[in-house]
Amino acid sequence: MHAKVVVLGGDGIGPEVTGQAVRVLRTVGERYGQSFEFEPALLGGCAIDATGSALPEATLRLAAAADAVLLGAVGGPRWDNPQAAVRPEQGLLGLRKALGLFANLRPVAVAPALIGASTLKPETLAGVDLLVVRELTGGAYFGPRQEAQLDAAGVETAFDTMIYTRPEIERVVRVAARAAQSRRGKLTSVDKANVLASSRLWRRVATEVVAREFPGLIFDHLLVDAAAMHLIRRPATFDVIVTENLFGDILTDEASMLSGSMGMLPSASVGADLNPFGLPRGLYEPIHGSAPDIAGQGVANPLGAILSAAMLVRHSLGLEDAALAIEQAVAAVLTAGYRTADIAGAAKPDFCLGTEAMGNQVMDALRRKDNV
Ligand code: NAD
Repeated sequence: MHAKVVVLGGDGIGPEVTGQAVRVLRTVGERYGQSFEFEPALLGGCAIDATGSALPEATLRLAAAADAVLLGAVGGPRWDNPQAAVRPEQGLLGLRKALGLFANLRPVAVAPALIGASTLKPETLAGVDLLVVRELTGGAYFGPRQEAQLDAAGVETAFDTMIYTRPEIERVVRVAARAAQSRRGKLTSVDKANVLASSRLWRRVATEVVAREFPGLIFDHLLVDAAAMHLIRRPATFDVIVTENLFGDILTDEASMLSGSMGMLPSASVGADLNPFGLPRGLYEPIHGSAPDIAGQGVANPLGAILSAAMLVRHSLGLEDAALAIEQAVAAVLTAGYRTADIAGAAKPDFCLGTEAMGNQVMDALRRKDNV
């Protein structure tokens, strides 16, 4: 079947890395008989510049009709004014909300070839293969808020509200529990139940869902502060972690450091809506931001975006073999010693590549017979 993919390059290095992911999708499509139609659209800062809105109506319409959406990153100093009424991240949050993408899947595995690129000791990293499932459309990022204003006593005050409902918790815990069933059967729910009311509800509902629907899982709870510690103390003991939006945002950045660079890690955001393939109409993006410090230089690591493309063909198109082929091609390129600057480590390897050259290596590896 023909797949329609909307490509939202976004800002900074976003278009540079999604450009490589699109090339890889075309290449893998040729191999696996999957034709693609790529439709570019605006999101974030570039959309503000062009239309005044971070999420133009046309983008939303295209994304809602696509089989899947591939995203780069949004934001940058140019749009950083905190007083601005329209901000790039509104585009991303609005898109996730409008498409009902309530679960964000972030796998973190440490490639053996990159074990030296992390700041953690190799013995701590051996065997790390975990998945963080972050709730994406609730919590403090979407609750009622008040921007800073003077209160009655003349003190500047602002607030955000962390709200969760039972159905919001149930559905994301189910996504995480199903993922755990297809992996090593272990699920850890992370909250702050000793302090927050929303976390106490989270813990109670998560416990009920797992006991009732997934009794075969090994299930435990961690407070978010302890989880932050254990993620760098004993990361290999985790299988699937499920947590709310804000905690997930922070823990996934921490977890990304296990792999050595933010540039390496993909993510998928899925909801209940299905595409004509009968699979989730997902949004796929590397976890890194727009990296304004290196934008336009052609040195960004495209592997997070390329691995996001692998998640796209797996979760939204059901092409497991094609996904594995992309992942194996990336592993082969790393094993051969090719690096972008962010994963080169202290000792520069022989093969330090720019964005496009790294994309070329992945495509060469994909085309080589033993990797497809
Ligand atoms: P960032 O992820 O953009 O960059 C953090 C550091 O990692 C930088 O030194 C950057 O050069 C490096 N880095 C990130 N991705 C890389 C890659 N692919 N290859 C090589 N190096 C890479 O985070 P930041 O600097 O905190 O944020 C910059 C902008 O991105 C901000 O405007 C922020 O709001 C936005 N942002 C967007 C998203 C998103 O679109 N999902 C996520 C995070 C941050």
